[in-house]
Amino acid sequence: KEPLLKVEGLKKHFPVKKGALGRVKGHVKAVDGVSFDVMTGETLGIVGESGCGKSTTGRLLMRLLEPTEGKVIFDGRELTALGGDEMRKMRRDIQMVFQDPYASLNPRHTIGKILEEPLLVHGVKDPKERKRKVREFLEIVGLSGYHATRYPHQFSGGQRQRIGIARALMTNPKLIIADEPVSALDVSIQSQVLNLMQDLQREFGLTYIFISHDLSVVRHISDRVAVMYLGRIVEIAESDRLYGMPLHPYTQALLSAVPVPDPGFVREQIVLEGDIPSPADPPPGCPFHSRCPFRMDVCKSNVPSLAEQETGHSVACHLYTEEARGDDNKTLVTE
Ligand code: SF4
Ligand code: MG
Repeated sequence: KEPLLKVEGLKKHFPVKKGALGRVKGHVKAVDGVSFDVMTGETLGIVGESGCGKSTTGRLLMRLLEPTEGKVIFDGRELTALGGDEMRKMRRDIQMVFQDPYASLNPRHTIGKILEEPLLVHGVKDPKERKRKVREFLEIVGLSGYHATRYPHQFSGGQRQRIGIARALMTNPKLIIADEPVSALDVSIQSQVLNLMQDLQREFGLTYIFISHDLSVVRHISDRVAVMYLGRIVEIAESDRLYGMPLHPYTQALLSAVPVPDPGFVREQIVLEGDIPSPADPPPGCPFHSRCPFRMDVCKSNVPSLAEQETGHSVACHLYTEEARGDDNKTLVTE
Protein backbone atom coordinates (compact mmCIF):
# COMPACT_ATOMS: atom_id res chain seq x y z
CA LYS A 1 0.00 0.00 0.00
CA GLU A 2 1.18 3.47 -0.90
CA PRO A 3 1.68 5.88 1.99
CA LEU A 4 -0.50 9.01 2.06
CA LEU A 5 2.60 11.11 2.67
CA LYS A 6 6.14 10.42 1.63
CA VAL A 7 8.94 12.73 2.70
CA GLU A 8 12.36 12.29 1.10
CA GLY A 9 15.57 14.02 2.14
CA LEU A 10 13.83 17.18 3.31
CA LYS A 11 16.15 20.07 4.22
CA LYS A 12 15.70 23.66 5.31
CA HIS A 13 18.84 25.70 5.73
CA PHE A 14 18.36 29.33 6.77
CA PRO A 15 21.17 31.72 5.82
CA VAL A 16 22.76 33.56 8.73
CA LYS A 17 23.72 37.10 7.77
CA LYS A 18 26.16 39.27 9.58
CA GLY A 19 27.41 42.83 9.47
CA ALA A 20 26.10 45.94 7.70
CA LEU A 21 26.41 44.35 4.26
CA GLY A 22 24.35 41.37 5.35
CA ARG A 23 26.82 38.87 4.00
CA VAL A 24 25.89 35.24 4.47
CA LYS A 25 28.09 33.85 7.21
CA GLY A 26 26.73 30.34 7.33
CA HIS A 27 23.53 28.39 7.56
CA VAL A 28 21.27 27.21 10.31
CA LYS A 29 20.45 23.66 9.33
CA ALA A 30 16.99 23.66 10.89
CA VAL A 31 15.96 20.51 9.02
CA ASP A 32 18.82 18.48 7.62
CA GLY A 33 17.76 15.50 5.57
CA VAL A 34 14.52 14.14 7.02
CA SER A 35 12.73 11.16 5.40
CA PHE A 36 9.62 9.31 6.54
CA ASP A 37 6.30 7.87 5.35
CA VAL A 38 2.84 8.22 6.87
CA MET A 39 0.09 5.72 6.03
CA THR A 40 -3.58 6.66 5.69
CA GLY A 41 -5.33 6.68 9.06
CA GLU A 42 -2.07 6.59 10.97
CA THR A 43 -0.72 9.02 13.57
CA LEU A 44 2.98 9.75 13.38
CA GLY A 45 4.33 11.55 16.43
CA ILE A 46 7.39 13.78 16.03
CA VAL A 47 9.19 14.53 19.30
CA GLY A 48 12.26 16.46 20.31
CA GLU A 49 13.39 19.45 22.32
CA SER A 50 12.74 22.99 21.16
CA GLY A 51 14.90 23.89 18.17
CA CYS A 52 15.21 20.31 16.88
CA GLY A 53 13.40 21.19 13.65
CA LYS A 54 10.06 19.51 14.31
CA SER A 55 7.93 22.65 13.77
CA THR A 56 9.95 23.63 10.71
CA THR A 57 9.31 20.14 9.33
CA GLY A 58 5.55 20.66 9.81
CA ARG A 59 5.67 24.00 8.00
CA LEU A 60 7.71 22.54 5.15
CA LEU A 61 5.11 19.84 4.62
CA MET A 62 2.42 22.52 4.21
CA ARG A 63 4.82 24.59 2.11
CA LEU A 64 4.35 27.49 4.47
CA LEU A 65 8.14 27.41 4.08
CA GLU A 66 9.97 26.40 0.91
CA PRO A 67 12.39 23.52 1.42
CA THR A 68 16.05 23.97 0.51
CA GLU A 69 16.10 20.41 -0.76
CA GLY A 70 14.00 17.26 -0.79
CA LYS A 71 10.59 16.03 -1.83
CA VAL A 72 7.16 15.88 -0.25
CA ILE A 73 4.78 13.49 -2.01
CA PHE A 74 1.20 13.66 -0.82
CA ASP A 75 -1.53 11.41 -2.17
CA GLY A 76 0.65 10.55 -5.17
CA ARG A 77 1.52 14.15 -6.08
CA GLU A 78 4.77 15.93 -5.49
CA LEU A 79 3.80 19.01 -3.47
CA THR A 80 7.24 20.51 -3.82
CA ALA A 81 6.65 20.76 -7.60
CA LEU A 82 3.17 22.33 -7.51
CA GLY A 83 2.53 25.91 -8.58
CA GLY A 84 0.74 28.41 -6.33
CA ASP A 85 -2.82 27.72 -7.54
CA GLU A 86 -2.48 23.96 -7.39
CA MET A 87 -0.89 24.22 -3.96
CA ARG A 88 -3.78 26.36 -2.70
CA LYS A 89 -6.21 23.66 -3.83
CA MET A 90 -4.09 21.01 -2.18
CA ARG A 91 -4.23 22.91 1.13
CA ARG A 92 -7.83 21.80 1.45
CA ASP A 93 -6.49 18.30 2.04
CA ILE A 94 -3.75 19.24 4.50
CA GLN A 95 -4.61 21.41 7.46
CA MET A 96 -2.70 22.57 10.49
CA VAL A 97 -3.63 22.91 14.15
CA PHE A 98 -1.39 25.23 16.16
CA GLN A 99 -0.30 25.43 19.79
CA ASP A 100 -2.00 28.75 20.47
CA PRO A 101 -5.30 28.94 18.63
CA TYR A 102 -5.94 32.34 20.19
CA ALA A 103 -3.06 33.85 18.23
CA SER A 104 -4.52 32.52 14.98
CA LEU A 105 -8.19 33.38 15.67
CA ASN A 106 -8.96 36.96 14.63
CA PRO A 107 -10.23 38.61 17.86
CA ARG A 108 -12.62 40.89 15.94
CA HIS A 109 -14.36 38.08 14.08
CA THR A 110 -17.11 35.86 15.42
CA ILE A 111 -16.42 32.14 15.58
CA GLY A 112 -18.97 31.74 12.78
CA LYS A 113 -17.03 34.07 10.52
CA ILE A 114 -13.71 32.41 11.40
CA LEU A 115 -15.05 28.95 10.58
CA GLU A 116 -16.74 30.12 7.36
CA GLU A 117 -13.53 31.50 5.96
CA PRO A 118 -11.94 28.22 4.80
CA LEU A 119 -15.26 27.33 3.13
CA LEU A 120 -15.24 30.65 1.25
CA VAL A 121 -11.62 30.16 0.21
CA HIS A 122 -12.48 26.75 -1.16
CA GLY A 123 -15.54 27.89 -3.07
CA VAL A 124 -18.60 26.99 -0.96
CA LYS A 125 -20.78 29.79 -2.37
CA ASP A 126 -24.12 29.23 -0.63
CA PRO A 127 -24.20 31.18 2.68
CA LYS A 128 -26.86 28.84 4.12
CA GLU A 129 -24.69 25.85 3.37
CA ARG A 130 -21.72 27.55 5.06
CA LYS A 131 -23.79 28.38 8.18
CA ARG A 132 -25.08 24.83 8.33
CA LYS A 133 -21.55 23.42 8.13
CA VAL A 134 -20.29 25.81 10.81
CA ARG A 135 -23.02 24.66 13.21
CA GLU A 136 -22.40 21.04 12.33
CA PHE A 137 -18.66 21.25 13.00
CA LEU A 138 -19.07 23.22 16.22
CA GLU A 139 -21.19 20.32 17.47
CA ILE A 140 -18.74 17.74 16.18
CA VAL A 141 -15.97 19.26 18.34
CA GLY A 142 -18.22 19.38 21.40
CA LEU A 143 -19.40 23.00 21.26
CA SER A 144 -22.86 24.33 20.32
CA GLY A 145 -24.24 25.94 17.19
CA TYR A 146 -25.08 29.12 19.13
CA HIS A 147 -21.37 29.65 19.87
CA ALA A 148 -21.04 30.86 16.25
CA THR A 149 -22.12 34.38 17.25
CA ARG A 150 -19.47 34.69 19.97
CA TYR A 151 -15.89 36.01 19.86
CA PRO A 152 -12.64 34.13 20.61
CA HIS A 153 -12.04 35.87 23.96
CA GLN A 154 -15.32 34.47 25.27
CA PHE A 155 -13.88 30.94 25.24
CA SER A 156 -11.49 29.02 27.48
CA GLY A 157 -8.17 27.70 26.17
CA GLY A 158 -9.58 24.20 25.68
CA GLN A 159 -12.64 25.56 23.85
CA ARG A 160 -10.44 27.70 21.64
CA GLN A 161 -8.42 24.64 20.68
CA ARG A 162 -11.70 22.87 19.81
CA ILE A 163 -12.47 25.84 17.54
CA GLY A 164 -8.98 25.56 16.00
CA ILE A 165 -9.67 21.88 15.32
CA ALA A 166 -13.11 22.67 13.86
CA ARG A 167 -11.53 25.20 11.54
CA ALA A 168 -9.00 22.60 10.37
CA LEU A 169 -11.86 20.16 9.67
CA MET A 170 -14.03 22.55 7.63
CA THR A 171 -12.49 21.55 4.28
CA ASN A 172 -12.65 17.78 4.92
CA PRO A 173 -8.87 17.34 5.00
CA LYS A 174 -7.06 14.00 4.76
CA LEU A 175 -4.01 15.01 6.78
CA ILE A 176 -3.83 17.20 9.86
CA ILE A 177 -0.49 18.46 11.11
CA ALA A 178 -0.88 19.37 14.77
CA ASP A 179 2.03 21.37 16.23
CA GLU A 180 2.01 21.22 20.05
CA PRO A 181 -1.82 21.26 20.00
CA VAL A 182 -2.23 20.66 23.74
CA SER A 183 0.97 22.16 25.16
CA ALA A 184 -0.72 25.40 26.26
CA LEU A 185 -3.54 23.55 28.07
CA ASP A 186 -3.95 22.27 31.63
CA VAL A 187 -3.28 18.56 31.96
CA SER A 188 -6.96 17.70 32.59
CA ILE A 189 -7.98 19.60 29.45
CA GLN A 190 -5.14 18.04 27.45
CA SER A 191 -6.62 14.57 27.66
CA GLN A 192 -10.07 15.84 26.62
CA VAL A 193 -8.61 17.42 23.50
CA LEU A 194 -6.50 14.32 22.75
CA ASN A 195 -9.55 12.10 23.12
CA LEU A 196 -11.49 14.40 20.80
CA MET A 197 -8.72 14.18 18.22
CA GLN A 198 -8.78 10.38 18.41
CA ASP A 199 -12.57 10.28 18.04
CA LEU A 200 -12.36 12.58 15.01
CA GLN A 201 -9.65 10.43 13.50
CA ARG A 202 -11.90 7.37 13.67
CA GLU A 203 -14.96 9.24 12.46
CA PHE A 204 -13.33 10.96 9.47
CA GLY A 205 -10.49 8.55 8.67
CA LEU A 206 -7.95 11.30 9.35
CA THR A 207 -4.20 10.95 9.22
CA TYR A 208 -2.22 12.91 11.80
CA ILE A 209 1.27 14.21 12.25
CA PHE A 210 1.45 15.09 15.90
CA ILE A 211 4.38 17.33 16.85
CA SER A 212 5.30 17.76 20.52
CA HIS A 213 8.16 18.12 22.98
CA ASP A 214 6.12 16.07 25.48
CA LEU A 215 6.83 12.35 25.19
CA SER A 216 3.90 11.23 27.33
CA VAL A 217 1.42 13.22 25.22
CA VAL A 218 2.86 11.79 22.00
CA ARG A 219 2.72 8.22 23.28
CA HIS A 220 -0.96 8.56 24.09
CA ILE A 221 -1.93 9.38 20.52
CA SER A 222 0.74 8.03 18.14
CA ASP A 223 0.99 4.74 16.26
CA ARG A 224 4.61 5.47 15.43
CA VAL A 225 7.04 8.03 16.80
CA ALA A 226 10.03 9.80 15.24
CA VAL A 227 12.60 11.40 17.55
CA MET A 228 14.39 14.47 16.16
CA TYR A 229 17.69 16.00 17.25
CA LEU A 230 19.39 18.95 15.54
CA GLY A 231 17.38 18.73 12.35
CA ARG A 232 17.51 14.96 11.89
CA ILE A 233 15.46 11.93 12.78
CA VAL A 234 17.64 9.86 15.12
CA GLU A 235 15.12 7.08 15.79
CA ILE A 236 11.72 6.00 14.48
CA ALA A 237 9.60 3.05 15.55
CA GLU A 238 6.12 1.93 16.57
CA SER A 239 5.18 3.69 19.80
CA ASP A 240 5.17 0.62 22.04
CA ARG A 241 8.54 -0.41 20.73
CA LEU A 242 10.11 3.02 20.96
CA TYR A 243 8.92 3.52 24.52
CA GLY A 244 9.63 -0.07 25.57
CA MET A 245 12.96 -0.58 23.86
CA PRO A 246 14.53 2.74 22.86
CA LEU A 247 17.80 2.22 20.99
CA HIS A 248 19.23 5.70 20.52
CA PRO A 249 21.04 7.13 23.56
CA TYR A 250 19.14 10.41 23.07
CA THR A 251 15.76 8.65 23.09
CA GLN A 252 16.87 6.73 26.17
CA ALA A 253 17.81 9.98 27.92
CA LEU A 254 14.52 11.67 26.98
CA LEU A 255 12.52 8.70 28.24
CA SER A 256 14.51 8.42 31.45
CA ALA A 257 13.27 11.92 32.32
CA VAL A 258 9.58 10.94 31.93
CA PRO A 259 8.02 9.95 35.28
CA VAL A 260 7.04 6.27 35.48
CA PRO A 261 3.51 5.64 36.79
CA ASP A 262 4.50 2.40 38.61
CA PRO A 263 5.99 3.46 41.98
CA GLY A 264 7.76 0.11 42.41
CA PHE A 265 9.75 0.62 39.26
CA VAL A 266 12.81 2.79 39.52
CA ARG A 267 14.36 3.89 36.29
CA GLU A 268 17.81 5.28 36.30
CA GLN A 269 17.79 8.81 34.95
CA ILE A 270 20.32 9.58 32.27
CA VAL A 271 21.50 13.14 32.69
CA LEU A 272 22.92 14.61 29.51
CA GLU A 273 26.01 16.79 29.62
CA GLY A 274 25.78 20.27 28.16
CA ASP A 275 23.12 21.95 26.07
CA ILE A 276 21.89 21.29 22.56
CA PRO A 277 24.56 22.69 20.23
CA SER A 278 23.49 25.55 17.97
CA PRO A 279 22.06 24.33 14.65
CA ALA A 280 24.20 27.09 13.06
CA ASP A 281 27.27 25.29 14.28
CA PRO A 282 26.45 21.61 14.65
CA PRO A 283 29.23 19.27 15.74
CA PRO A 284 30.84 17.09 13.06
CA GLY A 285 30.07 13.38 13.00
CA CYS A 286 27.08 12.31 15.07
CA PRO A 287 25.14 15.49 15.95
CA PHE A 288 24.57 14.04 19.44
CA HIS A 289 28.21 13.21 20.21
CA SER A 290 28.87 16.28 22.34
CA ARG A 291 26.31 15.03 24.87
CA CYS A 292 26.30 11.28 24.42
CA PRO A 293 27.40 9.12 27.35
CA PHE A 294 28.27 6.29 24.91
CA ARG A 295 30.28 8.21 22.33
CA MET A 296 33.17 6.44 20.62
CA ASP A 297 35.93 7.77 18.39
CA VAL A 298 34.00 7.05 15.21
CA CYS A 299 31.16 9.27 16.47
CA LYS A 300 33.28 12.41 16.29
CA SER A 301 33.94 12.14 12.57
CA ASN A 302 31.30 9.95 10.90
CA VAL A 303 27.63 10.83 10.64
CA PRO A 304 25.55 7.73 11.45
CA SER A 305 22.73 7.21 8.96
CA LEU A 306 19.24 6.10 9.89
CA ALA A 307 19.22 2.32 9.43
CA GLU A 308 16.60 -0.30 10.16
CA GLN A 309 17.47 -2.61 13.08
CA GLU A 310 14.21 -4.52 13.31
CA THR A 311 11.23 -4.25 10.99
CA GLY A 312 9.97 -0.69 11.27
CA HIS A 313 12.51 0.31 13.91
CA SER A 314 15.32 2.50 12.60
CA VAL A 315 18.09 4.27 14.47
CA ALA A 316 20.97 6.57 13.52
CA CYS A 317 23.75 5.53 15.89
CA HIS A 318 27.17 3.88 15.51
CA LEU A 319 26.44 1.54 18.41
CA TYR A 320 24.40 -0.39 15.86
CA THR A 321 26.62 -0.09 12.79
CA GLU A 322 29.13 -2.63 11.55
CA GLU A 323 32.19 -0.46 12.06
CA ALA A 324 31.51 -0.12 15.76
CA ARG A 325 30.57 -3.72 16.51
CA GLY A 326 33.15 -5.36 18.69
CA ASP A 327 33.51 -2.13 20.60
CA ASP A 328 32.67 -3.20 24.15
CA ASN A 329 31.03 0.12 24.91
CA LYS A 330 27.67 -1.29 23.88
CA THR A 331 25.66 -1.82 27.04
CA LEU A 332 22.53 0.20 26.61
CA VAL A 333 19.91 -1.22 28.91
CA THR A 334 19.44 1.30 31.66
CA GLU A 335 16.86 -0.45 33.80
FE1 SF4 B 1 26.24 8.38 20.84
FE2 SF4 B 1 27.94 7.69 18.92
FE3 SF4 B 1 25.43 6.80 18.87
FE4 SF4 B 1 25.97 9.35 18.38
S1 SF4 B 1 26.59 7.61 17.15
S2 SF4 B 1 24.35 8.57 19.65
S3 SF4 B 1 27.65 9.73 19.79
S4 SF4 B 1 27.00 6.33 20.40
MG1 MG C 1 8.02 24.41 17.90
